[in-house]
Amino acid sequence: MKIANKTITATRLVKDALAKAKEFADYNIFTFLNEEAALKKAAEIDAKIARGEDAGRLAGVPYALKDNFLTPEGETTASAHILQGLTAPITATAVKKLEAEGAIMIGRTNLDAFAHGSSTENSYFGPTLNSHDKERVAGGSSGGSAVAVALDIVEFATGTDTGGSIRQPASFNGVYGLKPTYGTISRYGVVAMASSLDCIGFFTKTPDDMNLLMEIASGQDPKDLTTLPDYYNESVIKPAKKIGAISDFDNDVVDAGIREALAKKIELLKSKGYEIVDLEMPTLKYALAAYYIIQPAEVASNLSRYDGVRYGFRSEKSDMLGDLYNNTRNEGFMAENKRRIMIGNFVLSSGFYDAYFLKAAKTRTLIVEEYAKAFSQCDFIITPVSPNPAFKLGEKVNDPVAMYLEDLMSVPLNLAGVPGLTVPAGTTEAGLPLGLQLVGPRRSDKSLIEFAKELI
Ligand code: GLN
Repeated sequence: MKIANKTITATRLVKDALAKAKEFADYNIFTFLNEEAALKKAAEIDAKIARGEDAGRLAGVPYALKDNFLTPEGETTASAHILQGLTAPITATAVKKLEAEGAIMIGRTNLDAFAHGSSTENSYFGPTLNSHDKERVAGGSSGGSAVAVALDIVEFATGTDTGGSIRQPASFNGVYGLKPTYGTISRYGVVAMASSLDCIGFFTKTPDDMNLLMEIASGQDPKDLTTLPDYYNESVIKPAKKIGAISDFDNDVVDAGIREALAKKIELLKSKGYEIVDLEMPTLKYALAAYYIIQPAEVASNLSRYDGVRYGFRSEKSDMLGDLYNNTRNEGFMAENKRRIMIGNFVLSSGFYDAYFLKAAKTRTLIVEEYAKAFSQCDFIITPVSPNPAFKLGEKVNDPVAMYLEDLMSVPLNLAGVPGLTVPAGTTEAGLPLGLQLVGPRRSDKSLIEFAKELI
């Protein structure tokens, strides 16, 4: 608005965002700063506005792009050594839509390599630091994007969420983070992790900004056949009356501060006249086990294309073709990427497929059914995002199972394809942000974002 009213120029906004990005360099938020192209675009937008032309709903708004979205600006690395040197020949559909409305990408943000992780410590470029405490993790995998918004470097940032990668870092940094209904935003041009779980979404400072970005980015894309027809822009906001609270999560695993924040918000909702429904969802406790079978299986398939021949980095050590594949993968992938490829191939191999993959797929169906049942009793559900606030750097990175347990409450939504929105819910005594998660039935995204305003 300020730009359209000529009280500030796009060039000023972009310069300020770039200056802030540099000021906060020690947080290790960006893998690339898009200075030249961003300033050029800002000048074009300023010229358009001077001519009295419409420059779009996001005219001159600086944003940060998670480094697993393909665009020809800078290298798309997904924070993985194996993709270094890759300049993408295409632009992701989501990016095209944002830029058609005048948004300007000022930089690419750090993530766990290939989005495998919950802390951004699995990045080839080193960890991103938490916006509120530099000794703690940013959360992950979209840690860079969350911190870029939390430190007010940009107005919004993109993320991907396969099992919590938007919602958990949003919670760790005190911003809004949405994982939409599966298929709402095109995945075309985004580095695939686990295709049946991957969702594109955003980090913002307000629910209204989230709504605007969803209006712009959602919709069917002929290049991604899993995208839904554009329900988002046709949604009529349905006011909620009944809110579900889940009694099944073992209270011992959830931090006391988070339980308190949840109880406070439930009281607030009651005082506003909402009915709180106690839900039993006993199958959710199996979601994590099912996720860490289904997701590596899809990872093993998606990552098999990185062989040193077609994309990015190639090991210098190899004379023979077989060595070239092996050495490239060995040097190019992080330990966590390799672990998932191995688990994935194991659970899909003959003899183990029935015991693991098939069982996990059946569990997934039960989880879908459990959500359907829950949403026959209430409009939305409110839960923690993760069992604890931001943990210390180095605390879990050498213990994969402890790291996987971070995802206990975020992965069920991806298995069911339902939307989840992280809303800020205060801080711990030490000043660390706490977030809660609002969950809705499929395609309720617009109403869910509107409902989030009730918790402010
Ligand atoms: N932390 C989860 C994992 O490592 C989710 C990651 C994501 O959503 N990209 O699988």
